[in-house]
Amino acid sequence: MYKRILIPTDGSDVAEAAVDHALDLAEKYDAEVHALYVVDIDSVNFSLGTEQVDRLKQGRFDEMGELKEQADEATGVVAESGAERGIDVVEHVSGGRPHKLISDYAENHGIDLIVMGSHGRGGVRRALLGSVTERTLRSTHVPVLVVDYIDED
Ligand code: ATP
Ligand code: MN
Repeated sequence: MYKRILIPTDGSDVAEAAVDHALDLAEKYDAEVHALYVVDIDSVNFSLGTEQVDRLKQGRFDEMGELKEQADEATGVVAESGAERGIDVVEHVSGGRPHKLISDYAENHGIDLIVMGSHGRGGVRRALLGSVTERTLRSTHVPVLVVDYIDED
């Protein structure tokens, strides 16, 4: 049923809560696991200069210092949890609009399940679902498992 599972992560606790669900399914179905962090171009536009934005658009992540470190740390957490269970994780970082790149990645890599958090770094529960999750649900045909941190044991 599930051959390739995608875990989009923004490094938040809620996204990490989704990781256990994803890895458990991966184990049962002997699926490949992919972790994706998207450097959000809209938020970067606000806080950084044109130089950083250009680097991001050109995919020159290695020159992006702290932003790249944050991204690597987020996918690294997924990779480490995978390693503890003997599951290899394909780590990927890209720059753009998160929901768009999540659904594109799913389509381009034959992903058959996306596992993500109900909320993320935005944290404040002013909405039932975070905007990235809501938009991902609207833009992909791939099944999405949404994990709510509060429902965790
Ligand atoms: P908002 O961003 O609307 O203020 P939020 O931060 O609480 O709200 P989302 O951003 O929708 O909620 O995060 C929900 C889930 O979406 C996260 O748990 C994570 O799985 C995924 N996600 C969010 N941002 C990214 C990102 N930049 N790259 C990859 N995955 C992301
Ligand atoms: Mn967010």
